[in-house]
Formats: sequence, C-alpha cells, structure tokens
Amino acid sequence: MNAKEQIISLRSELHKLNYNYYVLDDSSVSDYDFDLRLKELKKLEDLHPEFYDSNSPTVRVGGDITKNFATIVHNSPMYSLDNSYSIEDLYDWEKRIKKIIEDNIEYTCELKYDGASISLSYIDGKFVKAITRGDGIQGDDVTPNIKTIPTVPLVLQGDFIKNFDIRGEIVMPIEGFKKLNSERVSNGEEPFKNPRNTASGSLKLQDSKEVSKRPLECLLYSIVESSGIIKSQYESLEIAKKLGFNVSNEIKLAKSIEEVFEFIKYWEINRNNLPFEIDGVVIKVNDTNQQNELGFTSKFPRWAISYKFKPEQSSTILKNISYQVGRTGSITPVANFEPIDLAGTIVKRASLHNSDFINKMDIRINDTVFVEKGGDIIPKIVKVDLSKRSVSSEKTIYINHCPECNSELKRNEDEANHYCLNYNFCQPQVSGRIQHFISRKAMDIDGLGAETVNLLVEHNLIKNYSDLYRLKTEDIIGLERMAQKSSENLISGVLLSKEISFDRVLYGLGIRHVGVTVAKKLAYHYNNIDALMCASYEDLETVDEIGGKIAESVINFFAAQENIMIINDLKFYGLNFQISSSKIIKSDKLLGSMFVVSGVFSQFSRDELKLEIEKNGGKVKSSISTKTSYVIAGDNMGPSKRLKAESLNVAIISEEDFVKMIK
Ligand code: AMP
Ligand code: ZN
Repeated sequence: MNAKEQIISLRSELHKLNYNYYVLDDSSVSDYDFDLRLKELKKLEDLHPEFYDSNSPTVRVGGDITKNFATIVHNSPMYSLDNSYSIEDLYDWEKRIKKIIEDNIEYTCELKYDGASISLSYIDGKFVKAITRGDGIQGDDVTPNIKTIPTVPLVLQGDFIKNFDIRGEIVMPIEGFKKLNSERVSNGEEPFKNPRNTASGSLKLQDSKEVSKRPLECLLYSIVESSGIIKSQYESLEIAKKLGFNVSNEIKLAKSIEEVFEFIKYWEINRNNLPFEIDGVVIKVNDTNQQNELGFTSKFPRWAISYKFKPEQSSTILKNISYQVGRTGSITPVANFEPIDLAGTIVKRASLHNSDFINKMDIRINDTVFVEKGGDIIPKIVKVDLSKRSVSSEKTIYINHCPECNSELKRNEDEANHYCLNYNFCQPQVSGRIQHFISRKAMDIDGLGAETVNLLVEHNLIKNYSDLYRLKTEDIIGLERMAQKSSENLISGVLLSKEISFDRVLYGLGIRHVGVTVAKKLAYHYNNIDALMCASYEDLETVDEIGGKIAESVINFFAAQENIMIINDLKFYGLNFQISSSKIIKSDKLLGSMFVVSGVFSQFSRDELKLEIEKNGGKVKSSISTKTSYVIAGDNMGPSKRLKAESLNVAIISEEDFVKMIK
C-alpha cells in the first residue's frame, strides 16, 4: 500500500470504529488501539499534506480557533414547537388538525432532548456545516466545534440524496456533566450550573480543542429535504440511523392520542433513568403528505407539538431576602434559601419580583417554601408551606431606603417596582448604565466587561458612558488585571465602537422601556437624534408600536440636563446619531420579495445592489430556496446557483430588469 491508500484505509477504518463505539455503543477495539491508529493516521497526514481532508477522523481532536462566529441564514427556518401540558391540550391539537386532515392520522412520539439545537448540512455524503438555531432564521456557524463531537458523522454510510440538512440537539449526558464538574471543582473552578446550558455554552467556545474535551453528544430528530422521497417521520429516522446518525431508539409510532399519552406517562416516570435530560416529549404527525398539508404557522409547524413535563418542585428554607439595584434604579428583592437540587441543578436564589409579590404570598424569613424550576430554568418560589411556619414569625417589611446609597425609595402609583432616584451617584446604577451601553446588542465593545467597568467606576475614571471615550491607555494601565495589552485592547475597542449604527447607540443610551426593537423603530422613524429629542408626546405615540409608557420615558430622558450633556459629548466624539444616508428607505416597491444576488454587475457593486434591494423594501438572502422570488444574475453567475434556481423555478433576472423594477 502506498501512503495515499494507507491514509484512506485508516480513515475509513477509524470512521467505522468511531461509529461502533459512540453510536452503537459496542467497543470491538480498545481505546488504546483506537488511539494508536489515530496517531498513525496523524503522522501520515503530517507527512502528506497533499491528501488533506477536512473530514478526516483526526479533526475530532480540534485545534481550530474561531474568534467571531459567522452568522449564516438557515436553508429553511428552524421553527420552535407549540406546547401542551395535558391530554386535553393534545385532544385540542388533534381537533385542530382533523379540521384539515380527513384521513386517519398516525403520530410519532419522540423524547424532547434538553440541549442546544443544531442544523447539520451534508453534501455528497460529507459533513460540511453546522449552524446553531439562533433566532430560527439565522444562526452561528460552529462547524469546527461540532466536528469534534464523536456522534456527528463526518462521512455518511451508504447512499442518500446529494444535499440535505439534518436537525438535532446537542446534549451533555448527565454522567459526563458530573465528571466535568468534579474536574472543575478540583481545579478550583466554578462548577457549571446544568447540562443544558453547559452544552449550549460549549458550542460557542472559541477553541475547538476545548470543545473536544467536553462530553457532548448529538441526537438527531429530523431530516430536511425537498425531493419528497421520505414518506414519513418514522421512515426519516430509520434512514438517518442507516446513514450513521445517532438516533434514539425510544421512538413510538402511535395510532391515537391515547397511545401517545401512554408514551408520555411512561417517560414522565422513567425520565430519570435516561443518560441525558429530557424536558418532555415531541409528538409529530407521521405522514409527510399530511405534514405538508398542515404546514406551518409563523412560529411552529402545525403538524408537531411538544408535551412539557411538569417542572420539578422541592422545598427549602428561606434564609433571608436581599435587594438588588438595577441600572434604572429599580429594586429587585431576591430570596436566598438553603441550596437544593432541582432536576440536576443546584439552586439557592430566586427573584421575588417586587413588594406586591412578597405581600401576596406573605413570604417571611425562615418560612419553608416550594421552589420550582420553570421552563426557562429560572427558579421561582411557588408556595409557602404555612403548616411549617413558626408562631414567632413576623411579616416581611419591605425596605424603604436604597441598600447601596441609602437614598429614600420611591414607588409610582402605576408601577410595581420601587426605585432609587439617585441617578448620578448610586453605584450599581452608574455601572449598570455603562454595562448596558457596552453590551453586545448595543455598542458591543470588545475588551471591556462588567468587572472592568466596575473597576473603572470605583477608581473614578468614568462616571458615565461618554467618559469611556476620554480614557487613555496610561489611565488604566496598572489597574488590577490591566496590563499593556488589555489596556490597549480596551481603548481600541472603544474607538471601534464609534462605527456602531444609530439605532444601536440609541438602544445603548439605556432609556427605560427602549429595547432593541423600539430603538430601531424610533431610529428609523426620526432618522436622527435631534428630531427624536424634539418629538412631543403626541408625536411619539403616532410611531408604530410606541405607546404612552415608552413615549413618556423618552420625554423624561431628554428632559434631564445631564443626559443632554452626555449626548453632546458623544456627538463630539463622533458616535453615530443619525441613520447613515445609504440606509434611508426609498420605496416599498420590493416589499415581500426575496432576492439572491449572484455574479458581477456593471452599474452596481454587489454590496450596492444588496443595499438598493433593502432600500426598496426587499430582502436579500445568500442561498436560493423555494422562498426566493428572484435571482439577479450578473456575469459569471455560479453554474450551481443557476441550476438550483432553474430546478426550483425561481425567476432569473438581469441587472437591467432589476433597475426597471425599482424605477
Ligand atoms: P422549544 O424550544 O420549547 O420551542 O422547543 C423546540 C425545540 O425542541 C427545538 O428547537 C428542538 O431543538 C428541541 N427538540 C428536542 N427534541 C426534539 C425532537 N425529538 N423533535 C423536535 N424538536 C426537538
Ligand atoms: Zn441607590
């Protein structure tokens, strides 16, 4: 055998062994032998870089570093699932679908794996890409990290259609999670909270070598392809298994809702015997034709529903109530109780929301309380066990002074929360506003985190976010953990943030009730900050989706002299306070149309063309799908794009046609 043949044979042997070991759970070869062969392959590959293969078994050990994960649009959206909690909910669901489907319906019942969803793409039997769910429309490209997970096949067994996506869940099995945590504790690190968050956090690690050390598993549940060869969900899982994917064996084909319910009842009791966590069961209409007939709402498929198990409850003793001050000065009471294990997570705190909540539940220190982990895994107190209350217990008296600055608290009649009004000098408010300003959805300043902000505030280097732009390297160098490099990073991160668009700057200002979406609405309605600052209450209320509460808060924010001064400072430093002129909307001629741009053009650059589409209300996507309305073809359009457009019957138009459309 020559080197090439040797490499190829080792690769295919290792793929097979990997599959046997991790998917079939049968270890015909010892770990030692496996490693030996892997090392041999690595050696040969190093000697012969000309035979490089991005899907070689040696990529499992990782090594690629990703600084910023690219955002990628899913080939088809990753929907969420409608929820149900009782057999009545399921009967209701059945009633809804029987209005559309007259024939008999069969259901597949699957476990609802509690992890992070992932979409894997395969071309010609080879793994090419993995994208996180993100917002369902687009997610992050985490391919190098996913390659390290042994239950993700890099090369498929047997033949299947050329291109397809398959979706599944990355979970961290409980045993592995426990082991990882005990290693962390013995290294003096904080243990992770729960398997689900650890799994999804692992996908976003920058160093894929670190990911390869995390005991992750990929469970697949759905093949997405449009050729129509798959006749049912059950069959699709069988196909996936044959291709070498890790598919659970706990699947049932049910002939009625009653049979579905038996599956649910069984797993509600036996869920703790599984090697990984589940939070319910997913029920899907089995037949693909029936699925197509039912289709999707804007959020989820009509042909599937999840059944969520009741959250686990446990009782504990409330030790004390502490009070947190948020960036807007709002006070949040927090219950601190004896730590308890709730469905595998240690919890010791829960929000008590506000004084009304405490009064209504009559929660008192030393009470025995029931704590539940909600669907969003945030623990909450659901009940007080009055039978265990001591006779000497006293009603909780809510604080009336700020725990941080001792100012008197105020509560407006129409609001549930108490507020500390010491806007300028209450430390958590000062730091909180700056932390909000630098956060990812606002100015996204690299090299600056919450702890550093606290440090800068404590050292009186900054009092508000505009002070950030005054900082110099020499001011910060020598502060705790601030060496030359990190100081320089901080300053360059601050400088770079001047490029951030107006809508995000507006969000960053931290006006109460102005979140990301509202900030966008306001920014695009008024186009610049001066117009927004002059807007009256009545005028603000005419803006789409802006109500009285937001309008009032905007007015109040701009009425405060200190805010005007800060904004003037920020203007001076060159932040964006208007929508860049290239983004201003021209027309809605292309509203509802989805474009794909391919090739080289004469009048526009590709970016200009894309901008032009958006300015006229259209949308631009990077790949062609059944949803594409037009492909604008320039010179040298890729042949595969052309083929795809033709096979999906998508109109291919020229640059000139496009110009006519927007005339
Ligand atoms: P939810 O996040 O509650 O809307 O539930 C939807 C999520 O459940 C999907 O995004 C999937 O990641 C996840 N899921 C887990 N197991 C399954 C399964 N067997 N079939 C479909 N989705 C599943
Ligand atoms: Zn205060």
